[in-house]
Amino acid sequence: MTNAILIALLLGLTAAAAQVLGGYLLVARGTWPRRAQLMMLALGAGFILGLVFLKVLPESWKIIGAQASFAMLAGFGTLHFFEHAVVGHLHFGEETHKEAMATRMAGLSAFSGLFIHAFFDGLSISVSVQYDVFLGLLVFFAVLLHKFPEGLTIGSIMLSAGFSKRAVLQASIGLGVATVLGAAALVVLPTIDSIWVARILAFSAGTILYVGATDLIPELNSCEERVPPLMVFVGIALFFLSEHLLAELIGH
Ligand SMILES: [Zn+2]
Ligand SMILES: [Zn+2]
Repeated sequence: MTNAILIALLLGLTAAAAQVLGGYLLVARGTWPRRAQLMMLALGAGFILGLVFLKVLPESWKIIGAQASFAMLAGFGTLHFFEHAVVGHLHFGEETHKEAMATRMAGLSAFSGLFIHAFFDGLSISVSVQYDVFLGLLVFFAVLLHKFPEGLTIGSIMLSAGFSKRAVLQASIGLGVATVLGAAALVVLPTIDSIWVARILAFSAGTILYVGATDLIPELNSCEERVPPLMVFVGIALFFLSEHLLAELIGH
C-alpha cells in the first residue's frame, strides 16, 4: 500500500467520523441550534467555492485542458441526477417538512441520495491525495467542514421518516462507510496515469461544487437572516488562509 492511499484512507475515516458524530449528537440532543448549523454550512460552502474555482479547476486544466471543464460538468450533473432526479425530497439542514418524510420509503430514498453524495466526498479526497498531498489536505478540509452538518441532515431525515434512534445511527454509519469506500476507491485502480487522475479530479471537483452551490447555499438563502449568507465570504477567506498556512507548513 502506497503512502498516498494510506493518507487518503486516514482522511476519509476522519471525515466519516465527523459525519457519524453529527448523526449521533442529533439522536442524543434531539435537535441542534439552527444558527450553528447555518454557520457551518456557510463556511463549508465558501471553502468549496474557493477550492474548486481557484485550485482544482486550474490544476486539472494544466494537465487535460478544456477536458477539465467537461469532466467537471459531468461530475456536477452526476450528483444532481442522484440527489434530485432519482430522489424525491432531499436538502441539507434539519428536516422540517414532516409531510414530505411521511413514509419510510421517502427516508430511505433520501438516504440513498446522500449515500452517493458521501461516496463522492470520499472519492474527491482520494483522487486529490493521489494528485498531490497538499491538494488532498485542502479537499479534505472542504469535505470535513460540511460532514458534521451532513450527519445532522441524515439524522433528522431518518427521525422525521419515523425510524428508531438505532436506525438513525445505522444510517449515519452507513454514510460514513460510503465516504470510506469513496476514499478507498483508488486502491482498486492499481496504477492510473496522470491523465486519468486529472479527469477524475475534475469530475470530483464538479461533484463537490454541486454540494457547495446547490446543497449548502440554498439552505442559507432560505433563512430570513442576512448574516449566514455573508458567512460564505468568510468561508472563501478561510480557504485562502488554509492554503497559505499549509503552503508555509509543508513548504509547497
Ligand atoms: Zn424537507
Ligand atoms: Zn458531503
